[in-house]
Amino acid sequence: MVERNSSARRTEPARRGDASVRRIIVLGSTGSVGATTLDIVRDFPGRFKVVGLSAHRNVGLLKRQIEEFSPQAVCVSDAGAARKCGLASDSFGGAEFLVGEGGLSALVEGLEADLLVVAMVGFAGLLPTLKGIERGLAIALANKEILVAAGEIVVASARQAGVRLLPIDSEHSAIFQCLEGNHAPSLRRVVLTASGGPFRGWSREAIENATPEEALHHPTWSMGRKITIDSATLMNKGFEVIEACHLFGLRPDQIDVLIHPRSTVHSMVEFNDGSVLAQMGQTDMYLPVLHALAYPDRLANKFPPLDLAALGALEFSHPDRRLFPCLDYAYEAVSTGGTMPAAMNAANEVAVDAFLRKRVPFGGIARTIRAVMDAHTTMDNPSLDVLRKADRQARETAERYVGNLAR
Ligand code: MG
Repeated sequence: MVERNSSARRTEPARRGDASVRRIIVLGSTGSVGATTLDIVRDFPGRFKVVGLSAHRNVGLLKRQIEEFSPQAVCVSDAGAARKCGLASDSFGGAEFLVGEGGLSALVEGLEADLLVVAMVGFAGLLPTLKGIERGLAIALANKEILVAAGEIVVASARQAGVRLLPIDSEHSAIFQCLEGNHAPSLRRVVLTASGGPFRGWSREAIENATPEEALHHPTWSMGRKITIDSATLMNKGFEVIEACHLFGLRPDQIDVLIHPRSTVHSMVEFNDGSVLAQMGQTDMYLPVLHALAYPDRLANKFPPLDLAALGALEFSHPDRRLFPCLDYAYEAVSTGGTMPAAMNAANEVAVDAFLRKRVPFGGIARTIRAVMDAHTTMDNPSLDVLRKADRQARETAERYVGNLAR
């Protein structure tokens, strides 16, 4: 089943109007972006074909997806849960069945495909993404953690392989769209917009003791649990600053963040002549996912046109950096560079998980990250192995800190 891509395929650009079916592997197909990707495949029959799927533990939903989309191979991280659903035979519904980290790499390496949608969350998405780049697959990237932790490696590999990274994150999709056809060197700065999350306007005490239920109630975007908590701390926006540095080759001081509660302007770019371009649209992840899947085409879809008259005013303000310190931690981490962003990301993954399990208060997330960053010794120009070690060590430090907080 393994097929190596020829160099011709690596460099051949997608042609506008090419009616051929785009073959897709979706990593994280049962999560929010994964499910949206499959909605799009369903809505545009003949345009896309699912050849591979992976899921973490939601094997019940994966089973239904296999029945509907008939992929050639699937991978799950938890073999036990798969067995319970009768999914663990060597093939299910004609799909080859793979398990674990090795299975994920085999899925990406073994299938003939055009596009890899990386919708799984966390650092674990890094290796399969690098495998996809090596194979010359176009990468539609929703996973933030791998750009945060290993942005230099991912971007350098993509450049070397002649692979395009298509951002799915709405802000980066917006910047990507605003930059198209414009002269990149004349870019002065980008402005990432942020809804401000559910705690905009709350007091320090109320934020400190907010519950997971309150934090999971995002005002404008419907997303997975991890990213919704990251939005509440503004760490998500901090990650997006780091992502933008890597994706668009910017310095941290070229990236600003503005609170824009309606989330209608998805981000803006400013050129050196003072001109500002903004990308606007409905607040639904369907649209940036569709943009990445269909690129460079634009597909008419089921959403009504944006009604600007009904919106009235578009409001912008500065974020409160004292109440939401995670944003500055991200600027600090990307300016420090080396292994620091990976350590910050690992600390955040541990702290968010502890908060969702009600082991630490909401305020404990930022304190855990601060403690791990203070304890971390940065290594410059890290290899993949050094990054993995930094990730592991930061998780251990974070676990210890969380354990003390929980006591
Ligand atoms: Mg975003």
